[in-house]
Amino acid sequence: MSLEAHAEELASDLGVDKEEVKSDLENLVNYSVPVDEAKQSLRRKYGDGETGGSGPSSKSIGEVTTDDSNVTVTAVVLTSGRRSIQYNGEQHVIREGELADETGRISYTAWDGFDGDLEPGQTVQFGNAGVREWDGHPELNLGDSTDASVVDEPLDIDAEIGGESTLASLEPGDRGVTVEVQVIECERKIIDGRDGETTILSGVLGDESGRLPFTDWEPHDAIEEGASVRIEETFVREFRGAPSVNVSEFSAVTALSTPVEVTEDAPRLTVREAVESGGLFDVELSGNVIEIRDGSGLIERCPECGRVVQNGQCRSHGAVEGEDDLRTKAILDDGTGTVTVILGDELTARVYGGDLDDAREHARDAMDKEVVAERIAEQVVGHEYVVRGSLSVDEYGANLNAETFAEADDDPVERAGALLAEVDT
Ligand SMILES: [Zn+2]
Repeated sequence: MSLEAHAEELASDLGVDKEEVKSDLENLVNYSVPVDEAKQSLRRKYGDGETGGSGPSSKSIGEVTTDDSNVTVTAVVLTSGRRSIQYNGEQHVIREGELADETGRISYTAWDGFDGDLEPGQTVQFGNAGVREWDGHPELNLGDSTDASVVDEPLDIDAEIGGESTLASLEPGDRGVTVEVQVIECERKIIDGRDGETTILSGVLGDESGRLPFTDWEPHDAIEEGASVRIEETFVREFRGAPSVNVSEFSAVTALSTPVEVTEDAPRLTVREAVESGGLFDVELSGNVIEIRDGSGLIERCPECGRVVQNGQCRSHGAVEGEDDLRTKAILDDGTGTVTVILGDELTARVYGGDLDDAREHARDAMDKEVVAERIAEQVVGHEYVVRGSLSVDEYGANLNAETFAEADDDPVERAGALLAEVDT
């Protein structure tokens, strides 16, 4: 039967214009929708059958928008990861991941009523998938009214199947991810979970591309400091503005016999690149310190929460007896942007040239705490530094918690000379 004949049949059944039906039909078939499914979808669209109004239309992923309520898509499953969540007081296991066709990629959530297959690599036709908006983008909701059938049809997609990834390319929201990493730091912690006290692991993972923090919500024996492991079915969340790897009860962890090499270096970025990334766990920046901000030098912290106390008041705990501490907030500028570099007590003591007791004595002698911040400013403002640490970007701005803070050793005069030499050749 030709497309023309199909269109004719539909038009007479539904009592609508044949050319209109034909163009819809052609569209669907061009998006690789099987002709029978396309006809069904058009019957729903033109109001044949008990669904009444307009049923879900077949769309390519690139066409799905947040204005759609229900769609039918045919796509390759890229990733699939399980996660246990709680709503309405009950435990539910959902599956999450990404789908792709020739026109794009889309995230999905499959609720526990959905009984279709979600094997990475399979092409699946999802009939009547709900569309919801997440962070401005459409996402598919697969539920008990979604029917899924595996289609024997390879799609020519431009995306990696399966969730194998390096740490550097992970982003918050990634699901069903597999990594091969070395456990650099690992600490056992007891937290107040949903069902009382529970033990978790938290620390840092590394590979050749970089480092990221992780949390294992269901401690796996193979995860221990120094071990090289393959972790399947993890998901990525944002933690303090940077991606964090989450290991769950559904993750499979296997020890690797060949150690995973971990890079020594943090990626070196310009301030603008780093800030635009939205947050990085480990990054190196360089630039000039142009100013020391208020709240630097000899400060007081709340003994309860560690927040900085101003005029004897904690924002959460009211009037408290503050505890002295040293901190520096330095504005670093590299010509592309600025970031606030935060130095903790040890790094501050180094740039100040004295410890907490020295700072107290200094302030007492001067009868002014500000002298400490002033001396720090004299030491660092106008000098160029290389800083490595963890960058978070939020409504309060871009803050880099420094692990290392070292004066750039190349002398500007020498550098200018080198530049001139380059120009000469
Ligand atoms: Zn407090």
